[in-house]
Amino acid sequence: VTHWEEHKVIITGLDNAGKTTILYQFLMNEVVHTSPTIGSNVEEIIWKNIHFVMWDIGGQESLRASWNTYYTNAQFLILVIDSTDRERLPISKEELHKMLAHEDLRQAAILIFANKQDLKGSMSSAEISQQLNLTSIKGHGWHIQACCALTGEGLYQGLEWIAHQLK
Ligand code: GDP
Repeated sequence: VTHWEEHKVIITGLDNAGKTTILYQFLMNEVVHTSPTIGSNVEEIIWKNIHFVMWDIGGQESLRASWNTYYTNAQFLILVIDSTDRERLPISKEELHKMLAHEDLRQAAILIFANKQDLKGSMSSAEISQQLNLTSIKGHGWHIQACCALTGEGLYQGLEWIAHQLK
């Protein structure tokens, strides 16, 4: 008897970070089931036994209250960063630390994708790590992975880290 355990993964990040592109890469050639969403900027997708919930952290405040319901039992938080967007990195930082402080995310490990590494002037994962103050994170496993969602480079290393945490 196979036990299909569902894993909940929250994919978040500012608009334009590359979340949709990353999900598309994960889901390529797979049958995708989408569930009704709570708002136009929230996507809910089940792939294999992984339940992905994705939204923009810069989204409407009115939707924010409902996000909490999605936090429950989330095992992973994937934060997607546009590595060329220096200006808005502090917003991602603030949201990241807010999410990690949420009691429903107590168990969640965090994967940060430093996306758009193909673009000139993109910040390195080391620089982003420092700017987001990742070393201050207590009580959560975390990992930062440089990637290029357009080509898929780095995405599987990120998923491998997640798979390793599930063992
Ligand atoms: P979302 O708003 O976070 O879902 O971002 P999207 O996935 O819609 O991507 C926003 C824009 O960035 C689109 O034009 C993508 O083609 C582009 N984009 C996403 N990932 C990359 C990347 O790794 N490199 C480059 N050059 N562009 C990217």
